[in-house]
Amino acid sequence: MENPLQQTPGAGTALTEEVAQFDAIIIGAGITGLYQLYRLRQLGLSVRVYEDGAGVGGTWYWNRYPGARFDSESYTYGYSFSEELLQEWDWKEHFSGQPENERYLNYVADKFDLRRDIRLNARVASAVYDERENIWQIQTEDGHRARAQFLITAVGLLSAHYVPDFAGLDSFKGAWCHTGRWPKEGMDLRGKRVGVIGTGATGVQLITEIAKEVVHLTVFQRTANYCAPLRNGPIDPETQRRIKASYPEIFKKCSETPGSFMHQFDPRSALEVSPEERLAQYERLWAEPGFKKWLANFHDVMIPGEANEDYAKFVRNKIRERIKDPVVAEKLVPKDHMFGSKRLPCESGYYEVYNQDNVLLVDVREAPIERITPKGVKTADAEYELDVIIFATGYDAVTGSLNRIDIRGEGGQTLKAKFAQGPRTYMGIQSAGFPNLFTINSASVGNFVRAAEPLVDWVSDCICYVRNHQFSRISPTPQAEAAWTQHVAEAGAKILRTQADSWFVGANIPGKARALLTSPDSAPVMRAKRAEVAAKGYEGFLLQ
Ligand code: NAP
Repeated sequence: MENPLQQTPGAGTALTEEVAQFDAIIIGAGITGLYQLYRLRQLGLSVRVYEDGAGVGGTWYWNRYPGARFDSESYTYGYSFSEELLQEWDWKEHFSGQPENERYLNYVADKFDLRRDIRLNARVASAVYDERENIWQIQTEDGHRARAQFLITAVGLLSAHYVPDFAGLDSFKGAWCHTGRWPKEGMDLRGKRVGVIGTGATGVQLITEIAKEVVHLTVFQRTANYCAPLRNGPIDPETQRRIKASYPEIFKKCSETPGSFMHQFDPRSALEVSPEERLAQYERLWAEPGFKKWLANFHDVMIPGEANEDYAKFVRNKIRERIKDPVVAEKLVPKDHMFGSKRLPCESGYYEVYNQDNVLLVDVREAPIERITPKGVKTADAEYELDVIIFATGYDAVTGSLNRIDIRGEGGQTLKAKFAQGPRTYMGIQSAGFPNLFTINSASVGNFVRAAEPLVDWVSDCICYVRNHQFSRISPTPQAEAAWTQHVAEAGAKILRTQADSWFVGANIPGKARALLTSPDSAPVMRAKRAEVAAKGYEGFLLQ
C-alpha cells in the first residue's frame, strides 16, 4: 500500500481512505475558519476544515435562540475582503438577527466555493504533533484521520457551552437546553412555564423575546447587568446605498478604534466638563443605537475610576425609570461591579418584561439554586414548577473550546495542562512546544470580524513565510512567550475587563484559573505589534 504521506496533496480532497493529507487543517467553519480557508487556498495550499456542526457559521450556526442578534452594526461586521461581496449583500437591519447572519455566512461559503473543503458533522477529538515528521494528525470522533503541517484552531472564543453542574438535572421531567445548543427545529414555548437561568448578553436577548409567547416566565438572576437600548431598525434603501458607497471609510474608522467598532471615544474626560454638559452628552448618546453610548462617550467612562462610577449611576437610573415595582427595579440595578467590567448587553424592551404579570424575577444570589427537581428548580427558599428550563449560563471561554480537543505537542505534552493556569502564548497566536499550531481563537476580541480578518491575514502571511523560506516549523521562543504572558497579566490588571468575575478572566467557570483570556491591548496596538514582529523576520519565534 502506498504511504499517504508520499502523495502530492491535491486541492483539498482526501487522498486515501486511511489518512487524508493536507498542507493545513482548520478546526471550525465559523467566521474565522471560513476566511482562513479562503486565504490559505488563495496561497495555493491544500486545506481541509473540520466542523462539528451540520452547517457553517460557528456562533451564528449554534446560537439560534430567539432574540439572537448582532450588537455591532451589521455593516461593520461583514467580511471586508471582497468588494463584490460587500456590494452584493444587503443587510436588512442595523443590528441583524441570527437567521440573516447564518444566511450571510452560507452565502459566503457558496460564493467562494468553500464547501468542497469543509467536512461537516466532524468533531475533532484529538490533534497530535508528530515531531519526527513535523506533522499534526487529527482524529474526528467518528474515527476519520487526517494530517497536515499546519493546524489552525478557529474554534471560537465562546463555543464551549457551559451548563452548571446542578444536582438533579437528569431527573427533570420537562425539556431543557443551553442557548448555544438551541435545537435546529426550534422549541415550542407557547403556553409553557419556562425558566431561564442567566442574565448575560444572551439571557437578556432571549428573555425579551420569549416573554412575548410563554404562559409564564421565571428568570433566575445571579448578577444584574448594565443593559442599554440597542435601538435596532430596518435599513432603508437610501441608507443602504450610503453604506455601500462608504465601506472603505467604515472599515477605516473601525481599524482606528480600540475594539474595532466604528465609534471613537471623546478624548475629553467626563470630569473636565460641567455636570450639565456631561449629562447632556450621556443623554444624547443614550438615544443613539448600539455601543455608541459608551464607546463614543468620554474616554474615561471605560476606565476604572470616578468617571466610570458617574456613568454607572446614570445607567442605574435609566434602569430604575423603566420598572414599575421599585423592589424588582432594585434587584435589576447592578451594584456589585463596575460599569463595563462585564460585557454590556444591548436590549430591545428587556426591562419592560419585568412589568408583565406573567414574569417573575428570582434573585439567586439571595436564595441560590440548590438543585433541579423533577418538577423544576429548587432554590434555598422555594421550588419553581417549570415545563422548560433554558440555560443561558455562558461559555468556558477561549481555553474551553481548546480543552475539549486532546491537543498534544512536543514530548506528548497537552495544551490543556500547559494552559491550566491560563493561556501561555505569544500574542495569543502560538504556544511554545506546539509548533505550527495557530490558536487563533484566543487572539481576537472586540468587533469580531474586524479583529479576526487581520489576524487571519497575519497567520496566512506567516505560513507563507515559513514555506517560502524552506523552514518546516515555527513556534515561539520560551522567552517571548514568558514575556507576553507576563504582559497580559500586568497590563490586564489595569483594565476594566479584569475587574469583575466574568468569562473575560475565566471566573464564570468553577475551578478555572483566573487569568485574562485575551489580549489586554487595543486592536491597533495588537496589529502594530504583529506587523513589527513579522517585519523583523518573526522576532520572538523559532524558525527551523
Ligand atoms: P455570560 O455573560 O457568561 O452570562 C451567563 C449568565 O449565567 C450570567 O448571568 C451568570 O451569572 C449566569 N450563571 C452562570 N452560572 C450560574 C449558576 N450556577 N447559577 C446562576 N446563574 C448562573 O454568558 P452569555 O450571556 O452567553 O454571554 C457570553 C458572551 O457572548 C457575551 O459576553 C458576549 O461577548 C457574547 N454574546 C454576544 C452577543 C451579541 O453580539 N449580540 C449576544 C450574546 C452573547 P453571573 O453573572 O453571576 O456569573
